[in-house]
Amino acid sequence: MKCYMGYDKIAGCGEGAILILANNYKEAKQTGYESVMELFGSEYIDIGIKLLKGNNEHLFVQADQNKLLHNIPHFIDDLETCSVCGMWNAVIGEDGCTNCS
Ligand SMILES: [Zn+2]
Repeated sequence: MKCYMGYDKIAGCGEGAILILANNYKEAKQTGYESVMELFGSEYIDIGIKLLKGNNEHLFVQADQNKLLHNIPHFIDDLETCSVCGMWNAVIGEDGCTNCS
């Protein structure tokens, strides 16, 4: 499975985003759109889905391991976030994440 970020295009992904585990873009949007709409009050058309490239091991450990094992797409909206920039997509250390430190 791949890691996708689901966010509101108008608010921007800095305002909050969910992690979606899915096999492709279409599946990611189907899995995450209701949660994004609920969290950000987004219209369906404003939902952004972005593939997170690179090493996402730190995200996979926060995924539902059982669903991951059985290839079931799902999303996570209570991720560990960086205490400095508030993002969760980079590897988080004590002084910030690899995005901002
Ligand atoms: Zn950071």
